[in-house]
Amino acid sequence: MITSVQEDTISIVSIIGTKLKKSKYAFFIEKDNGEYIVYSSLSGAVILFSEESYINRLKNIIKDDEIFYDENDDIIVTLKAKKLFVDSTADEDLMVRTLYEENIVRNNVLDLMLVVTKQCNLRCTYCGQSHENKRMEADTYDSIINFIQNQLKTHGYRKVQITFFGGEPLMECKNIILFLTNLKEMLLSEFDGIEYTAGMSTNGYLLTPKNFDALVSLNCNFYQISVDVMDYTHDNTRPLVNGGRSWQQIIDNIKYMTSTNEKFSITLRTNFNIDVAESLIEFYKYVSEHFKSDKRINIYYETIKDQGNENTPIILNETEELVLDIDIAKIIKDNELSCSNAVNRNMPCSRVCYASKPNYFIFDEEKKIMKCSFEFDSENNCIGLLKSDGTFNINEGNYSKWVYSDYLSSEKCKNCKALPLCLGKRCPRTIINTGSMDCNIDIISNEIEGIIKNYY
Ligand code: SF4
Ligand code: SF4
Repeated sequence: MITSVQEDTISIVSIIGTKLKKSKYAFFIEKDNGEYIVYSSLSGAVILFSEESYINRLKNIIKDDEIFYDENDDIIVTLKAKKLFVDSTADEDLMVRTLYEENIVRNNVLDLMLVVTKQCNLRCTYCGQSHENKRMEADTYDSIINFIQNQLKTHGYRKVQITFFGGEPLMECKNIILFLTNLKEMLLSEFDGIEYTAGMSTNGYLLTPKNFDALVSLNCNFYQISVDVMDYTHDNTRPLVNGGRSWQQIIDNIKYMTSTNEKFSITLRTNFNIDVAESLIEFYKYVSEHFKSDKRINIYYETIKDQGNENTPIILNETEELVLDIDIAKIIKDNELSCSNAVNRNMPCSRVCYASKPNYFIFDEEKKIMKCSFEFDSENNCIGLLKSDGTFNINEGNYSKWVYSDYLSSEKCKNCKALPLCLGKRCPRTIINTGSMDCNIDIISNEIEGIIKNYY
């Protein structure tokens, strides 16, 4: 039996006698129980082969790099429809470029990040931010509304998406609510049919019932909340400014959110290193017991990175990270939780950094317009200064460095099975600073394969 684990919208083109070749971006993965999973990073399709007769037929088909299309063979039809096999004459480099054109260049969402404060109510031991008392003032919020107006008039965007970022954005909750109220009114009065969504990257401590109710009523409905696993690890690595505990308040806030019928999503981000990794099992069990049936929650995990803080706990090397990443996917699956690393991050274009997207702009409290959320003070990062009427003089030199890097010129990217996921634009900052990406393409490929094998 063939089970399509993920849906996509590709239609089948039937050309009898056409020769097909195995895609560069196809993964054929044998599970420990003998089942097969096939995955295409070009289409995002994940298909499970669980019946012996189907597995044997699949093995027979994939032993050759080239096959003939047969519309009466349901496996071949599926493999072609989901881009595991492509026409033998197809240029897959151009297919990837088409993906980029369709999904990134012609994207009609105006996507903005507002850095509303540089201050934070927590002091994470590995944080690299400076925690300055700088926050966005009313005239900057107004200028951003004017910027949105201008962009909608001149660029044909059909939707607006806002992400609030910091520091801790909820320290500016009142201003965020006022901004969203003004944005909503402006769109309703001037741009019939143009909608907006909003969300934030938050530590969750101030996402109290009162704040959540107000925010969600203004369509602020996606939240990435960072939790360093259980209370006894989190309260060490993510204490309040006064050294107090933050874990229980964050969990209580999430419990309130999930007790409502509101439409929202929480990506529960777990940051880990070797110390924290041991308590991941306990944490995912906890989340499963308390929130399992709530499909609005999904898990994302990431290793703790060196952000230049001298108190950063021991960080993992690439191989340790690989082993743990794959194991964690299995733990999440065993606890019947949804795993963003396995699902969302294996879809085409999902790993393209927003800094490279022509429709993405970051604003800070000094009215700087930027591309990357890592180095706010870098000169390369600033593409202009916002004026009160919402216009800005674009620094074309800087803008083009972020947006127009040519991934097809990189031999490494062309040989990487993750190319349709990141299009060579996984971290433009690294390319700008060093000239190339430092990826190990074998490790990347093994990680994708391992996570899929363990999760599906
Ligand atoms: S080598 Fe790195 S940047 Fe290039 S496609 Fe692979 S993951 Fe992306
Ligand atoms: S360019 Fe690199 S550092 Fe900057 S936001 Fe993107 S991934 Fe992060």
